[in-house]
Amino acid sequence: MDKNRNKSSESGKRKLNCSDESKCFELLESILDGEETSSSKEILDEKLAKCQPCFEHYHLEKVIREILKNKCTKQMVPAELADSIRQKIQEIK
Ligand SMILES: [Zn+2]
Repeated sequence: MDKNRNKSSESGKRKLNCSDESKCFELLESILDGEETSSSKEILDEKLAKCQPCFEHYHLEKVIREILKNKCTKQMVPAELADSIRQKIQEIK
């Protein structure tokens, strides 16, 4: 019962407008870029719990960074990939 009630009021839990969006986003991005300290993690949790734009921005930026990270590793892999393909071909032979 309580769980259902929480779910329906979930969007109301966060502010729909950020009082200081540019500052918030800057902080979120610096945390995502790895400048994370124990205090910034606390600030982050607090912001994401209270602030809908920050919550959305954080997850969007996180996804973008993951895609970029994957692209970068893929570009660095080809030598290894070529080796493993070579090995596979030799195994077939
Ligand atoms: Zn915010």
